[in-house]
Amino acid sequence: MADIFTGSFTQQEPIPDDGVDAALAVLRHGRLHRYNLAGDEAGEAALLEEEFAAFVGGKYCLAVASGGYAMATALRALGVGHGDSVLSNAFTLAPVPGAIASVGAVPIFVEVKRDLTIDLDDLRDKAGRSGAKVLLLSHMRGHVCDMDRLMDICKTAGVRVIEDCAHTMGASWRGVPSGRHGVAGCYSTQTYKHMNSGEGGLIVTDDAELAARMVLLSGSYMLYDRHHAAPPPEAFEGLKLDTPNISGRMDTLRAAILRPQLRGLADRCAAWTDRYRVVEAGLRGTPGLAVIERPEEERFVGSSIQVLLEDWAPDDIRAVLARCRARGVELKWFGAEEPAAFTSTYRHWRYAAPEPMPKTDRILAGLIDMRLPLTFSLEDCALIARIIRAEVGAVWQGRAAAE
Ligand SMILES: *Cc1c(COP(=O)(O)O)cnc(C)c1O
Repeated sequence: MADIFTGSFTQQEPIPDDGVDAALAVLRHGRLHRYNLAGDEAGEAALLEEEFAAFVGGKYCLAVASGGYAMATALRALGVGHGDSVLSNAFTLAPVPGAIASVGAVPIFVEVKRDLTIDLDDLRDKAGRSGAKVLLLSHMRGHVCDMDRLMDICKTAGVRVIEDCAHTMGASWRGVPSGRHGVAGCYSTQTYKHMNSGEGGLIVTDDAELAARMVLLSGSYMLYDRHHAAPPPEAFEGLKLDTPNISGRMDTLRAAILRPQLRGLADRCAAWTDRYRVVEAGLRGTPGLAVIERPEEERFVGSSIQVLLEDWAPDDIRAVLARCRARGVELKWFGAEEPAAFTSTYRHWRYAAPEPMPKTDRILAGLIDMRLPLTFSLEDCALIARIIRAEVGAVWQGRAAAE
């Protein structure tokens, strides 16, 4: 009998007990709005902002309603508006082009390389040709590009960088935390990311004016002096009457759930990467399958793993997915004609009128993705790798025999 895996690829860990206790305390006092404070309490949202700013080593931090809202707010605060072009990876998730569209701007997609990072030659080329002044860089699936070279290219081209760190909270490049290379870093605390408040987002920046604009945009009702990880009230003076209130605050309940998770984040990131390494080791050397080599400068968080079935026939990939699914292993495929769940690709974002990108198409056509929730044990991960290896092998051999 072949082994079958019975775990769930969408089951995250429960909220830790101290998070549950903190949530109950908020429910019991009822002050769920971040600015609804008693006496001289700071409030959970302001404390979370202070603690997260310290965690990534940033000056200012703003907690908001979602990762998508965080990116849109950073774009708007940088002055991106109707008809402007914004550079972004072709390989990313729908909320990234969605954030660009939400401010009326137009994404200019940049090709992805075989290591799943942004193609820096294509970036330099398109930065020059498009006249775009902002890059919304998505560290998609946790793969961090050569950030030193990227920042050089963007500086030369006069392009400012917003980092989408939805998959890189806790990661770094050459010791610099993800989100700390560009002018702003945006993070998500949605259930499938590295901290879980259901929905939520965080933005970090060292730029006082940008921070003040973002606080005002998020809907601060002129109560910005209740923030702790924000610039002093003077920074708001010249901006407060010119900045629209586009409500997207984080509430006290979510912040209360997140603060204990932040304290355990470094350990959880290490646990993810342990799981990643077990799956990677189990898959390495499988004929027909390529693992993604990770550069030494990158400290990544292995909350998901990607492999390539390069230049495989779509029917053979479908066969692998079906055979793995029959044994309990849920793989996602970025090459499917129709988007399934989170696997939509740039071709499906018709509102952005994307141009064809043959290099990216070739990568996505063979790109397989799998989540690694922390509810999986290391033994689970070894079993999952054995199942994938066997099923890829079976289809690969069948194909060789047919040829
Ligand atoms: C999840 C995600 C976001 C933000 O998503 P929200 O659901 O809006 O919090 C941004 N970028 C990527 C790549 C993501 O996967």
